[in-house]
Amino acid sequence: MSLEEDVMKIQKKLTKMTSDDGTGQEEALELLKALQTMAINLEVLTKTRIGMTVNALRKSSKDEEVITLCKTLIKNWKKFLSTPSTPKDNGSSSKSKKDSKDKDKKDDKEKDKKLPASFPPQSNTTDAIRIKCRELLTQALKVDGENPNACASPEELAEELEECIYAEFKNTDMRYKNRVRSRVANLKDPKNPTLRINFLNGAVAASRLAKMTPEEMASDEMKKLREKFIKEAIDDAQLATVQGTKTDMLKCGKCKKKNCTYNQLQTRSSDEPMTTFVLCNECGNRWKFC
Ligand SMILES: [Zn+2]
Repeated sequence: MSLEEDVMKIQKKLTKMTSDDGTGQEEALELLKALQTMAINLEVLTKTRIGMTVNALRKSSKDEEVITLCKTLIKNWKKFLSTPSTPKDNGSSSKSKKDSKDKDKKDDKEKDKKLPASFPPQSNTTDAIRIKCRELLTQALKVDGENPNACASPEELAEELEECIYAEFKNTDMRYKNRVRSRVANLKDPKNPTLRINFLNGAVAASRLAKMTPEEMASDEMKKLREKFIKEAIDDAQLATVQGTKTDMLKCGKCKKKNCTYNQLQTRSSDEPMTTFVLCNECGNRWKFC
């Protein structure tokens, strides 16, 4: 079994734990310790996105030991990111190691704040304009705070959207910028939260949002899409009790496939909206939204 497969096996187990309420912390600790012993490199980090899993666990865990170990792992992995892509060069790699060591000491108290929400970055563009655009899109997705129920983090979704836009123009000219700008404006429009919600919960895919006209983004169609989904869910929920309903209307933010099963539950009083629990049948990613 390859290292990558080993890591993904652990990741699968850890992903389940991030959705629990602090149960299974003993097992989480064992898994994190196992990760610590593995020679995880940048390639494995990028391919598996294990860093994001651990970071999510760090955020959701209430166990001090688990949180500390998560932080240690992330701190170690972060070093890969600042190391230039020529690790064979002894001179520069030892220098960067020393630099990050000094930095760690200095930033020790601030390191909590400095942990990026998205780690590691999924694609390593160095284009300043593209990075800036991703930031703007991320901020637009966070206008009403971080949505813990989204199918992926705002960073991931923003990046995917930016990738789609860039893929169309293949440069960062005026058209690219205008396209990004109109997405940002519509996503954070307080009068149109539906677009943002649809994108965050996977009902509107990045590839589609990338090409939508301003009229489409602001249209009632967005509302109808959400209503249609909710209505379909209600009808099906009456039939499907335990096993859930399969749908291709929701896209998984992790594996990008549209093969999900969802369940709807009235969580609190009956006049509150139902919560939809979604499970990706391809990769096991779970999320929920109201
Ligand atoms: Zn998936």
